[in-house]
Amino acid sequence: MNDIVKPEKIRCDACPVNCFIADGKSGACDRYANHDGNLIRIDPLTIIESTDQKLVPFLQDGSPEEWDGDIVKGNRPFVTAVGAGTTYPDYKPAPFIVSQDVDGVDMVTVVTEGIFSYCGVKIKIDTDRHIGHERDVVFAGGEAIGHVMTSEYGSKMLSLGGVEHLTGGTKKEGRLTCDALLRLCNREAVEVCIGEGENVTHVIIQAGKAPIINGGEEKLMRVGCGSATIGMFAKQWLGHVDDVVVVDDHITGVLSEHQAGKELHVQATGLKIIGRRSTPGRYFQVAKPGTGWGGTDIDDPLKILGPFNPKFAKEGMSLLMVSTTGEQSAYFELDADLVPQPAEMPDVLRVSANLIAENCEPSVCSVLFMGGAGGSLRAGVTENPVRLTRSVKESLTHVSCGGADAYVWPGGGITVMVDILDMPTGSFGYVPTPALVAPIEFTLRVSDYSALGGHMSEIRPVKDMETDSLRRVQQNGQGHDPMSRANYRWPKSDKH
Ligand code: SF4
Repeated sequence: MNDIVKPEKIRCDACPVNCFIADGKSGACDRYANHDGNLIRIDPLTIIESTDQKLVPFLQDGSPEEWDGDIVKGNRPFVTAVGAGTTYPDYKPAPFIVSQDVDGVDMVTVVTEGIFSYCGVKIKIDTDRHIGHERDVVFAGGEAIGHVMTSEYGSKMLSLGGVEHLTGGTKKEGRLTCDALLRLCNREAVEVCIGEGENVTHVIIQAGKAPIINGGEEKLMRVGCGSATIGMFAKQWLGHVDDVVVVDDHITGVLSEHQAGKELHVQATGLKIIGRRSTPGRYFQVAKPGTGWGGTDIDDPLKILGPFNPKFAKEGMSLLMVSTTGEQSAYFELDADLVPQPAEMPDVLRVSANLIAENCEPSVCSVLFMGGAGGSLRAGVTENPVRLTRSVKESLTHVSCGGADAYVWPGGGITVMVDILDMPTGSFGYVPTPALVAPIEFTLRVSDYSALGGHMSEIRPVKDMETDSLRRVQQNGQGHDPMSRANYRWPKSDKH
């Protein structure tokens, strides 16, 4: 008789999917597995260790306790929520509640991998190029995953995800939205289509990398609008050219009319810009948005000029036209009919166009994760969840995501935003509900934790976390230290 007993499947209760997982297999999200009948979190718990860089002590006779040459407390670890797991639904305490002494203060960090069905990402794409109109829909895999927001200085902004796309549409829409968010947050490249019909732009977005727009890799973020560029470089053009036009989709600048030109006594040239005049030397709507000069749809800058006024214009007068990134430039001289004719650009003006380009920063995509720590997640921290919110608002509790500094939005709830490049790689996961899984940590004094109804009996010292399945990452030298006293507003003398 065959007496081999097939191992029973075990139920994962880390998310509402409730997978039944056979021995040696993982669940639907690949985060949990059945290992010899035990449910285990597959990814290792990630600990950030401060740098161990040592400096030479300056107090040769001082005691080692006063100064050990280690300016950042080299051995102090910070337990992140990356790989910690989750306790959804949070009728039970967060997976790890870890204490350690920081400068004589008993601190506790509550770590959990939050399941965010309501989260999204904000994308900042540094480019002048037109990637879509405000409110245009952003598609991935043929499904709507977000939209174009307001343009900001030198950048286009996208808002992706959110509850409307994750759970408010079809199953496929939710799945593809979750997939795009996950890949973006884990630093992968994601191709999106913006707009519909003939008005479609293809953009490849990857955190920390230049965007690829319709197959072309963007290089520079503009130095400023056309008017700002006039202000910045006006002095360099004096004596070398009669007039300068900085072509820009937002504000095109004209040196001779601009305040900067007036201050420097640049004479009127009779130049006429076709566009809506805002203030002297500043013009809106000179062309449609596009991928040409200065984020307009033109490749020939002369298209934005009307006839020169013969009262001021003269034969031989010179004109430099340049874009806000300096990548496009052209030089003209007026002929006898006061029509600009292309001419060889003097070296000094070429140098000035190069200087504009040199002053532009590289174009990159930034991906910011945004999510709200809901009441359920907060219950994993305390039996009285609203007290955690109040503690965060009072700056007694410091919020981080994978150890990275999280911006806490004002108003109700604990809504945070974080630059995913500040987080350890592979910080994000997903569950097929669909929702994104993101690490979140709350750090506060043990005394404050007790006061807000924390799960005190679950606290364990950080030294007990030392197991083989830990992943240790170095703290970013420029980065954020969640345990730094600068994050907490109690006085230095208060050690309780
Ligand atoms: S999807 Fe993942 S977290 Fe959810 S129950 Fe299945 S294995 Fe557990």
